[in-house]
Amino acid sequence: MSARGERSGERAGGEPAGRKNFLGTGNDAFTCLVCGCEVLPLANGSFRSHCPECLWSQHVDEVPGDRAAQCGGLMEPIGLEGSAGSGWRLVHACVQCGAVRRNRTAEDDPRQPDNWERLVEVSRAPRRRET
Ligand SMILES: [Zn+2]
Ligand SMILES: [Zn+2]
Repeated sequence: MSARGERSGERAGGEPAGRKNFLGTGNDAFTCLVCGCEVLPLANGSFRSHCPECLWSQHVDEVPGDRAAQCGGLMEPIGLEGSAGSGWRLVHACVQCGAVRRNRTAEDDPRQPDNWERLVEVSRAPRRRET
């Protein structure tokens, strides 16, 4: 009954090294900081840049997917660009530093597509909260 000596509160997890989980790095699932929605990775393997429900993003990338930005501010969806043919891009503005980014929408994701009604709302009323 004394065969256990070295384990002190550490969990043997079996997680592969190098896979970090802070705020959905790369293509991991994450929880939206704005609406609390559980956001799944995109089925097509590209990076989820914004929440499919509220469409807010977070300023974590310099280049999409690199997670190199220091800011970390929330990014408000302020507009929609593009067309049904070439694909839509959401325009996000960082509420903290003012940076503007364009991100592809994911309205065709089979599991968790972008909320189309929200996209339409954003496209109709860019700059709603202008006061
Ligand atoms: Zn959200
Ligand atoms: Zn920012």
